[in-house]
Amino acid sequence: MPETPEIPVNSFVAINPYNTAKIYALKSSHNPKYYIGSTTLPIQLRFKTHKSAYNKYNNGTCALYSSAFEILKHTDAYIELIEEVNVVNNIELRLKEKEHFLKNRDNIVNKNNPMQTKEEKKKQMDYHNSHRKNEKKFCEFCKKEVLKYNFKIHLKSATHIFNESVVIHPELFIKVEGGFNGFREFRDDLKNQPTISVSV
Ligand SMILES: [Zn+2]
Repeated sequence: MPETPEIPVNSFVAINPYNTAKIYALKSSHNPKYYIGSTTLPIQLRFKTHKSAYNKYNNGTCALYSSAFEILKHTDAYIELIEEVNVVNNIELRLKEKEHFLKNRDNIVNKNNPMQTKEEKKKQMDYHNSHRKNEKKFCEFCKKEVLKYNFKIHLKSATHIFNESVVIHPELFIKVEGGFNGFREFRDDLKNQPTISVSV
């Protein structure tokens, strides 16, 4: 938890970023609800970090789901300042955010209450997990939906490596009835059969 910096003795004024912290909303014309957050960053910079988190989630490099993605998935998503607040530390900022959270409960997509109790935290983890379990990503090579949180593992699976190889190097494979039957060079019985060109 960040602490308020001490004021230096020789009358330099220490700037505490929490003195100009922000409560903001993420909005899109495609969703009547919005997302509420708080930050000590300039809000456009905070928006960039939100978008990069969404992109990472979307391409499978980060599995952590955020309810902000309900807004960020729309191309016209934007950030809007709700209130600049003068607080001293992260705890106070989260409490301010919680006020907004409770006041706007019916109009926001947020699922995780700032300053959560243990019970609330458990609910949030369940929410995370249900998303992790359900969200899927389409694999172009296997022509099927794969669980998003499992995508990196999928890319290393024998089935995927095989399917990807078939697409990239069809000349290495021989097509037999019912599908591909393995690397040509490892199938003595198939070695002398003519290669069939494939379209996948
Ligand atoms: Zn695949």
